[in-house]
Amino acid sequence: MRAQRAWRRANGRAMNRSVVREFQAPGIRVPRGEVLVPAELGDPVRGALSCPAAPLVAGSLRRKGYRVSFAAVPRFEDPAHHGDGAALYVVTCQQRDGGTAALAAAVAPDDRLAAAAARSAVEEWAGVLGTRRAISAGSPWCGGARQALEAVRRAISDSAGQGRVVHVHGQLAGPPETRAELASRGAVLGGSLQDAVRGDVIVFPAHGVTPAMRAEAIQRGLTIVDATCPLVAWAQAEAGRLADRGEHVVLLGQENYPAADGITSRAEGRATVIATVAGTSTLQVADARRVSYLLQPGIPIEDSAAAAAALRSRFPAVRGPHPDSFCYAPSDRAETVRTVAAGSDLMLVLGDAAAADARQLSALARDCGTRAQVIADPAEITPAMLAGISDIGIAESTSARAGLAGEITAALSGLGPLSVLRRQVSTQITDNSVIPVRPGDAQAGDATPAAAVPPPPTAAPATASPDQALPDQALPDQALPAPGLPVPAAS
Ligand code: SF4
Repeated sequence: MRAQRAWRRANGRAMNRSVVREFQAPGIRVPRGEVLVPAELGDPVRGALSCPAAPLVAGSLRRKGYRVSFAAVPRFEDPAHHGDGAALYVVTCQQRDGGTAALAAAVAPDDRLAAAAARSAVEEWAGVLGTRRAISAGSPWCGGARQALEAVRRAISDSAGQGRVVHVHGQLAGPPETRAELASRGAVLGGSLQDAVRGDVIVFPAHGVTPAMRAEAIQRGLTIVDATCPLVAWAQAEAGRLADRGEHVVLLGQENYPAADGITSRAEGRATVIATVAGTSTLQVADARRVSYLLQPGIPIEDSAAAAAALRSRFPAVRGPHPDSFCYAPSDRAETVRTVAAGSDLMLVLGDAAAADARQLSALARDCGTRAQVIADPAEITPAMLAGISDIGIAESTSARAGLAGEITAALSGLGPLSVLRRQVSTQITDNSVIPVRPGDAQAGDATPAAAVPPPPTAAPATASPDQALPDQALPDQALPAPGLPVPAAS
C-alpha cells in the first residue's frame, strides 16, 4: 500500500478510464518506424493488466502502414521523469469480472510520427469502449460431418504401425485445420479407389457412395470404414426400396451435391434429381400414379418446398418422405444465423470473404436488416465497425479457421465488459411431432448478469440427429415450410 500511495504521490494522478494518457516505459526499446503493442502492462498500482484488445490496436496501426511488434511492458511511469525508455500511450477499461484491462501502444521517444499514430490508434479504440454482448451462432459443422471426422481419426489410429494407408473417398467436410491434421497423420484426403492398394483402408465420408464404388472397394481388397451419415443412408435405402416397388423416385435437391449420386444410384433408371419448379414440368415417368419423392439431405428443407408443391400439383398421387427422416441440420443452421442476426446490431461472419458459405451467411444477415462484415482475423475489426454497436453476432463460416471465434471474443473483451452468449435453433423430434425449439441464449462463459439471461429453451425428449430413429416407409405427401437460403453441410 505504501508503495502504491508513493507512486500516486510521485505521479500526482492515477490513470483515468477512457482517457488516453502518455507514460514512459523504462527499459523498453522500440525501433523508429515501429510500434510496440503491449500484450500485458505492469501497472504500479493494480499490478499486471491484460491487454486482450492488442490485436485490434495492432490492426489499426498496420492499416496506417506501421510495423507492429508485441511484448509485455513490465512497468511504466510518468513521462516527467525524463528517463530512458519508450513513450507509452495507455487507456484502461473495466472487465466483466470487475477487473481492469488496458489498450496501449509504445514507440521510440523521439519518433514523433509513430507517436502520433500510436496515440491516435489507442484513442480510436478508446472511443468505442463499452459494455457489449457477443452472440455466437455456434459451429457450422453438423453431427454427420463430425462423426465422419472422428471415423477418420479412429481409422488412422487403428492402422498405425500396420503399413496400411487410410484413404478418404471424395470430399471430407470439416474445418481446414482438422483436415490438415488428418493429412499430416498420413490420411489421403479426396482420393479415389484407384489410389489405394490391397490392405489399405478406405473411408466413405458422410455423403456416402454408390453401390458400385462399395463393390469395387471390396473387389480391390480394401478395408471399408463406412462413415455415411445415417440420414443419408436412410435416403439411399429408401430410394432402393421405392424403386423395387416400381415407383419413380424424384430426389428434390442438387445434382452437384455429393450425396445425390449415392441416393439416385439405388434407383438406377428410376430416379431423377429435380432442383426447381421448372424441373417438375419436364419430368417424364412411365406411370403418373407411381411417383415418390425424397428430400436430399444436406440442403435446407425449405428450399424444396416450391418444387414439392409443383410435383404435387402435377402428380396428385405423389408420395413424400416422413418428416422424421428429414435432415434438419441445414435448416436449423440457417434459422440460427437468422435468429442471431435479428438480435444483433452487427454480424461478424468469420472466414474467407470469397468463400460461398461466408457470402451466404452475410446474405442471410442482411436479409434480416443487419449489417454483415466478413473477417478472417481479429485485426480486421475496425473502430468504425463497432461505433454505436452493443450486440455483435458471430457466425462461423466453413472457411473460418479453428479457434477464430475465440480469438474474436477475446479481443472484444478488451473493449469493456463482454457477455458471450450462444444462440441456437434446434429442431427436435418428439414421439409424435417435430418441434422447432425456441432459441435461447446459452451462456458460453461464466454466469451471466441477471438482466442478460433469457428464458430457457423448451426441452424435448428426442433429437433429430444423424443417429435418430427413422421411419421405414414413405407417407402421403405433406406441405413443406417456406424456402430459405442454402447453408452448406456435409452431404
Ligand atoms: S447435413 Fe444432415 S444428412 Fe448431411 S451429414 Fe449433416 S446431418 Fe447428415
